Amino acid sequence: MSENVRLSASRIGTAKKCSWSYWCKYHLKMPDKSNDGASRGTVCHNIFEYLGKDRHKKHFESIIKNGTVESSKAVHKLVKIQASRQDPPVDSKDNLDLMDEFIVRGLRYDFFGEESKNLDEGLSEQVFDLKVDDGGLSYHIYGFIDKLFIYDKGKKAVVRDFKTSKKKYTGSEITDNLQNLLYCLAVKKLYPNCEEFSTEFLFLNFDMSRDMLGHEGEGVMKLEPMSHDEIDGFEYQLNEIQEYLNSFGEDEATGNFAADMPFPSDGTFGGPLSCGFAKYPNQLKKDGTKMWHCPFKFAFEYWALKGKNGNTVKTVHDEEEHTLIPNEKEGEYLEKLSYKGCPRHSLKKDLDL
Ligand code: SF4
Repeated sequence: MSENVRLSASRIGTAKKCSWSYWCKYHLKMPDKSNDGASRGTVCHNIFEYLGKDRHKKHFESIIKNGTVESSKAVHKLVKIQASRQDPPVDSKDNLDLMDEFIVRGLRYDFFGEESKNLDEGLSEQVFDLKVDDGGLSYHIYGFIDKLFIYDKGKKAVVRDFKTSKKKYTGSEITDNLQNLLYCLAVKKLYPNCEEFSTEFLFLNFDMSRDMLGHEGEGVMKLEPMSHDEIDGFEYQLNEIQEYLNSFGEDEATGNFAADMPFPSDGTFGGPLSCGFAKYPNQLKKDGTKMWHCPFKFAFEYWALKGKNGNTVKTVHDEEEHTLIPNEKEGEYLEKLSYKGCPRHSLKKDLDL
């Protein structure tokens, strides 16, 4: 029997959103374009991980007291270094100011989980990599939990996830949240005696402080605790997803285009919205900025770093070829490849002509 493909929330989410996008990203390993938002998110997560360590508590305290990362020389420097190393870099003043706000908000919201009683354990960036093969179930899940707090002698777990997006969750993003399901399942496996599992999403772009009546700000989204039945049901669903993705091939790739799905009616981002409205690459909006589109919508050329067996190690866009350095002694080499664009859209173009 072949190995189970390792499933993460983003891998499953991509497959659900669009089969062709999944094919490009996970099978062809084509280069994806990141953006400022994703880069800012990475920097903030890295700083939270750094400040979650006991030995860095004095930096945490200084930032909390003064309301800015600038009050800690070390953390301020780290933010700047991290910001300049992202692709795209986010070390402009506007981006640094925004990340400063995000970080302070995240730290001020009960960062060590001590505001609730009976804390046993508080973990930062808890990694899970779980292979289950038991009772007819077979799956492999992987991920990082930003913050995990265990209370009441291991009976209660709270998962916390930091979000730097501009928009909060709505509709099915709340009621059928994949990260919530996956994280609660992972915690149930890691802490078999735990009885209550819940997830908090902290939207750092929004106010999270309490008002005079003690109500939390709009950036705090606490989901209902997950029942054991819900987690068990998800395990069966996961088993099916695992089977589908284990045997995913070219036929499946063209089986479920986002473009053919209905427009979402609950304010979420999905269906044809995932393709973007641009009709050609670099199309401009009225305000002169570029129209967003799915990175796999249009044709482009790219470079692949290949291993000696022809396996793809890494890919980059054409203009980034210089960043790929093959280890020739190990038989690595570079290959230029062409992508013809999303077949769903090229087909539409052909029909339009
Ligand atoms: S353009 Fe649309 S249909 Fe094509 S890969 Fe992207 S999301 Fe999927």
